[in-house]
Amino acid sequence: MLIVPEAEIAALISEQDAYEAVEAVFAAMARGAAVNFPVVREAIGHAEALYGFKSGFDRAGMVLGVKAGGYWPGNMAKGLTNHQSTVFLFDPDTGRASAMVGGNLLTALRTAASSAVSIRHLARRDAKVLGMVGAGHQSAFQMRAAIRLGGFERVVGWNPHPEMLGRLAETAASLGLPFEALSLDDLGAQADVIITITSSFAPLLMAGQVRPGTHIACMGTDTVGKQEVEAALLARARVFCDERAQSVTLGEAQHAVGAGLIAAEAITEIGAVVAGLAPGRQSDDDITLFDGTGVALQDLAVAAKALARAQERGVAVEVAF
Ligand code: NAD
Repeated sequence: MLIVPEAEIAALISEQDAYEAVEAVFAAMARGAAVNFPVVREAIGHAEALYGFKSGFDRAGMVLGVKAGGYWPGNMAKGLTNHQSTVFLFDPDTGRASAMVGGNLLTALRTAASSAVSIRHLARRDAKVLGMVGAGHQSAFQMRAAIRLGGFERVVGWNPHPEMLGRLAETAASLGLPFEALSLDDLGAQADVIITITSSFAPLLMAGQVRPGTHIACMGTDTVGKQEVEAALLARARVFCDERAQSVTLGEAQHAVGAGLIAAEAITEIGAVVAGLAPGRQSDDDITLFDGTGVALQDLAVAAKALARAQERGVAVEVAF
């Protein structure tokens, strides 16, 4: 079995690698060549931790595996990342464990790649202003992946905890772009693309705050009960997701579908747009909304790429197992 330590990942996988892996696996899902299995996520009754598994099989790429891990809110005080995850890959022909890959940085990269894929395929081509709602650990990755796509000239941001906004300002500066902290009303009035990446359990961005033509990537809601935008916004928008089953149960769409504001069948999986099987934005006035819940196949795709690079460069650690 090969081990790719967390510390090696940054040198092995770039944002471009993550983007390509995630875009390709979304398309494979749409063609029926890759499947995610039901997610397990449980409170373990210790350390306030949420622990679970996301697994799947990409038949096109022959990648079988599981990401195990979760959220340990007390970790920060111990100098560790609150989100902890490890990807295990298995030989699809024999079931033997083939690799163990550090999953923390990969999770941030694949999550940012997911919203970037949605921006690339759904936002207006002339989008210039990126609006960030959220200023936690993931927000910097999200901003970098969006700006990499090109065309953005300015970043605006809002966060429920204003003291965290420095992260957005610093990230925008590192990308050579001006940053301005705004109210949510002003952010909605100015942004062409909005990324929400908070751990909110109540709507922050309201339907009336978003103007026609905006693309919104809702990336923070990945658990039952979480919510970042008003459910009525989904009724105003063309709604897309990574995987419909997750979107309606633990994603942003859980609220709009639960309230009967939109039908689950009206939500299009982004892979279908990537693969040319379904239309994306249909007019410059459409509001498009992407519900990115985070699927196993994203984790497996980036882990498989990291493993291949680690083998090429001789940094994978081999153990008899
Ligand atoms: P973080 O703890 O570093 O930052 C939390 C963010 O949420 C900050 O912007 C903070 O101000 C805000 N926040 C905290 N408590 C809040 C509350 N009660 N109400 C409203 N906002 C609140 O977290 P992070 O690592 O940046 O992750 C942000 C979110 O993204 C989390 O919900 C996480 O589960 C989710 N996430 C989603 C995916 C995916 O694939 N969709 C992947 C990774 C993380």
